[in-house]
Amino acid sequence: MKKLFTEDGKSFEIKINKNLYSKNSELADKNLETLNKHNIHAIDILGSIGSGKTSIIQQLVTSLNKKYRIAVIAGDLTTTIDADRIKNRGAKVLQINTEGGCHLDANLVRNGMEALDLSSLDLILVENVGNLICPSGFPVGTHQRIVIVSTTEGPYMIVKHPYIFQNATVAVINKKDLAEAMEVDLKQFQDDAIKVCPGIKTVFTNARTGEGVPELIQALKLKEK
Ligand code: MG
Ligand code: ZN
Repeated sequence: MKKLFTEDGKSFEIKINKNLYSKNSELADKNLETLNKHNIHAIDILGSIGSGKTSIIQQLVTSLNKKYRIAVIAGDLTTTIDADRIKNRGAKVLQINTEGGCHLDANLVRNGMEALDLSSLDLILVENVGNLICPSGFPVGTHQRIVIVSTTEGPYMIVKHPYIFQNATVAVINKKDLAEAMEVDLKQFQDDAIKVCPGIKTVFTNARTGEGVPELIQALKLKEK
């Protein structure tokens, strides 16, 4: 793969290591195969640090843990804060410390899956590392992708990160209660999401109160309780 860059009117090409991406994609397909064999549905959850990934996961687990046996694979650079927050909500939690790595990849998620008893699970939620850039190039082998942006990140999160939305099922616009204070237009987020990914579903949430979570569950075609 070649990428074109321009600087002061001159353009030059940089070769990107295609091998790295294709190896990851192969492994992602393998992960999906394994999940399907065990009848497990898996969702990759993406968003910047502080957008509300862990809070949304807490809400999903609370709403779904009677219907589904759930495990959360939580990626984090160094801490176990998120894993600790999810643990007492009725899901198994597996923490992957990427030791500085800025995204999860199919191999890390594979290792996580191998550490879980897949025969005792129906649903795996993957909390990716907080970053909306490079995870777009590293599918981990899930059935669906949720991308979360929050109103406090300003109005341009979707238009500035189009690639991450292209393979997403649902765009979650979180912290909807703060939209007015932040002077951002919720409808604009929805328009932007459809512009970068026609057919994507958008859901407005307040992850702290759980508002919008039933709509998210519906958008994911999961069944509550
Ligand atoms: Mg988190
Ligand atoms: Zn990365």
